[in-house]
Amino acid sequence: MGQKDGEKWTAAVDSQPTLPKPDSLQGGDHNSPMPELPEVEVTRASLADRLLGAEVRGARLGKPLRWPLGVATAQLVGRRAGLLQRRGKYLWLPLRPAAPSDEVAPEGGLLLHLGMSGSLNLADAPGPAGVHDHFDLDTSRGLLRLTDPRRFGAVVWSDALHSDPAARLLSRLGAEPFDAALTPLRLHAALQGRKTSIKAALLAGDIVVGAGNIYVSEALFRAGINPRLRCEQLSRPRCERLLAALRLTLARAIELGGSTLRDFKDAHGVAGAFQQEALVYGREGQACGRCGGLVRRIVQAQRSTYFCANCQRR
Ligand SMILES: [Zn+2]
Repeated sequence: MGQKDGEKWTAAVDSQPTLPKPDSLQGGDHNSPMPELPEVEVTRASLADRLLGAEVRGARLGKPLRWPLGVATAQLVGRRAGLLQRRGKYLWLPLRPAAPSDEVAPEGGLLLHLGMSGSLNLADAPGPAGVHDHFDLDTSRGLLRLTDPRRFGAVVWSDALHSDPAARLLSRLGAEPFDAALTPLRLHAALQGRKTSIKAALLAGDIVVGAGNIYVSEALFRAGINPRLRCEQLSRPRCERLLAALRLTLARAIELGGSTLRDFKDAHGVAGAFQQEALVYGREGQACGRCGGLVRRIVQAQRSTYFCANCQRR
């Protein structure tokens, strides 16, 4: 739909590297409210059943988000929502044409991203849009609203999940952390040749997605791996421990998220709840629960890393 919009999108995507780093905007990452994979997964789980089969009645755009929508809102009307899916921190809402004979983008849908401060809510009577509400999708199951004060979030039309712009954005992502295809052996192979620390490599997101700052710090602690260890020095058995620790850490955060979803807008969401039981993250100068030594904080890749030098060996 709309070649012109597609071109605008392409240009916008190519400008991505010039965006400021999260920490320089936030003034530190302690208590970061940025939605991470667990928040997005909890959002998906809470909305998927309710949105499935919903008919679009209209859409409203607020101030510009990270990228343009890429389609006229009128073209969304009458479409029906398929099953909401998650890939990395993106959500994909299939929107199928009402008439089976309609050949225009039958596989089309909206790719959504919560950016640095976004949250999605589905409500029957949410009231008029507030100053931070920048996308409304009015459906037969309620109004789906994106609230995003910092507007790094995105709602973008794609003719199919495997077409651009969706395909282009998703192609940058590493493996899903819970994907059985991501084995310790694969993780080990992917880390070979990396010149960075293990912490920076995991944060980059192109090997495995979802390893946000707090979760990497915790996973490395659980696995007993020093965050400054260079990738190629990580043995296969340690890769196995690391992958297990990362999965355990993310699973716990998703579990906690079920009870904190309602507070996303005014609290720190899943990460905030998760931090209450963090073993090292945010605990600089406090005693390590395992050995009694002091938890230290260093900065890596412009993000804070918390670790115990006794428990996490090089
Ligand atoms: Zn320790």
